[in-house]
Amino acid sequence: MEWVTPEQAEHYESVLGFARTLPRDTLERDREEMFSREAWNRCAEFGIQGMPIPAEFGGGGADVVTTMLGLEALGYGCDDAGLVFSINAHMWTSEVPIWTFGTAQQRERWLAGLCDGRFIGCHTITEPGAGSDAFGMKSTAKPVPGGFVLNGSKTFITNAPVADLLIVFARSGEGIGPYGISAFLVEAATKGLTVGGQLDKMGLRTSPMAEVFLEDCFVPSEALLGGEGQGGEIFQTSMRWERACIMASQVGTMRRTMEACVTYARERRQFGKPIAKFESVSDKIANMKVAVDAARALVLRVGWLMDHGRDTMVEAAVAKTFVSEAAVRTHLDAVQVFGGYGYMTEYGIERGLRDAVGGTIYSGTSEIQRRIIARGLGL
Ligand SMILES: Cc1cc2nc3c(=O)[nH]c(=O)nc-3n(C[C@H](O)[C@H](O)[C@H](O)COP(=O)(O)OP(=O)(O)OC[C@H]3O[C@@H](n4cnc5c(N)ncnc54)[C@H](O)[C@@H]3O)c2cc1C
Repeated sequence: MEWVTPEQAEHYESVLGFARTLPRDTLERDREEMFSREAWNRCAEFGIQGMPIPAEFGGGGADVVTTMLGLEALGYGCDDAGLVFSINAHMWTSEVPIWTFGTAQQRERWLAGLCDGRFIGCHTITEPGAGSDAFGMKSTAKPVPGGFVLNGSKTFITNAPVADLLIVFARSGEGIGPYGISAFLVEAATKGLTVGGQLDKMGLRTSPMAEVFLEDCFVPSEALLGGEGQGGEIFQTSMRWERACIMASQVGTMRRTMEACVTYARERRQFGKPIAKFESVSDKIANMKVAVDAARALVLRVGWLMDHGRDTMVEAAVAKTFVSEAAVRTHLDAVQVFGGYGYMTEYGIERGLRDAVGGTIYSGTSEIQRRIIARGLGL
């Protein structure tokens, strides 16, 4: 493997070896929209969920590039993209904000359990009327003696049906945009918090998702994450990590799909020869190779910048836009290479396409990423 240290290459191989031991039952669970807690626990036991969290809080203390390589290997070796997505969402939007903004007590209470698989976290910002314009949220956190009372409703919340901890964003004070928004650590069993039924979706079906309702939900002052009004900064920190790191797993998935296409195109014969001999087929696979290599370079660039303490707002948006769109293209082409077999659920190729589409929407749509990139160019 180019660019990386021998230790990082070894880490990649070790995660890949582990990922290949995970059960191959995704086809059935995708139909049933079933999350695998067992696979979740096995990943945690191996050290996936805790990879970048410092050892003193129960994690593996890996740098960002090493973490990204581990997540790429997980995406390459494990065909349950929903599980990989749930793990990523948990890491970047639950662990990272608590590690970065939490008090000693909050870190002590949550981090070790989030790393070792006991707890599942989720991040609740999107509302029915506030998606891309997340800071246009209507949910409120009214300060009262001893804490806050939360009211509002949230939607599209990954992991909510199985979560122990919800990071809830709500407006606690005056201000426009990110100003006046605070983040709260809310236990799933808190009175006044209800998780709706599991939402039925196009892809990533093994990653559970639901709406969340807050009705006069009292949380003590100790539930406030960071300072009052710091919610916008907490959200942006999570998004910077998530946009880059989730795409590392997508690089692994794209590579797995490309290799499946290489094998299939060599074996499948039409007109007396392997379909790989038709240039319009092999060109599609060559394009996949270009996409995988470019995607990996863009993702690792963000990791390198993060490891060197540099700002990555624009670079993460560039990586997110390119990789998520390249993943859709790669999987659409893979369906074409496999022909009718690609269109049938049994081969898992069409599932890759359904799973990939979500990448252009979650963590900020492609259109929003292009707004960030354009702003970075002074436009
Ligand atoms: C698989 C998946 C997992 C998710 N997980 C979570 C989660 O765990 N927690 C959470 O809080 N949310 C989650 N979301 C929600 C996600 O963040 C939102 O769906 C996303 O931000 C877009 O919001 P929206 O769906 O309301 O679309 P809208 O904001 O209504 O956008 C609709 C269309 O308009 C475009 N648009 C909007 N504004 C602009 C603009 N300024 N310029 C150009 N185009 C624009 C969008 O790009 C899009 O094409 C998840 C979504 C998905 C698909």
